[in-house]
Amino acid sequence: MTRDCFDRSRRRVMRAVVTGIPAAVLLWSSRTEASDKMTQKQAEYRDTPDGIYSCGMCTLFVKPNACKVVEGEISRDGWCKAFALLD
Ligand code: SF4
Repeated sequence: MTRDCFDRSRRRVMRAVVTGIPAAVLLWSSRTEASDKMTQKQAEYRDTPDGIYSCGMCTLFVKPNACKVVEGEISRDGWCKAFALLD
């Protein structure tokens, strides 16, 4: 193996490392964000209120249609077992 051939191989390896690390970090970060919230099934979310209590009255509700702890689209008229009443 000549010195020139060795330098080209080393450049290829370095290029793969430089471009591969950001891709791996982005993939890991997107997986972490996805797993931070419960699924609607885990939270036993439903589109209807529980008596007088609904997502619109919950401290975890994020206007207009999201939640800090449950993933997906959330109705202000919905409810789940993580409900936390506003003060
Ligand atoms: S009740 Fe609260 S925690 Fe549950 S989905 Fe609605 S806003 Fe999120």
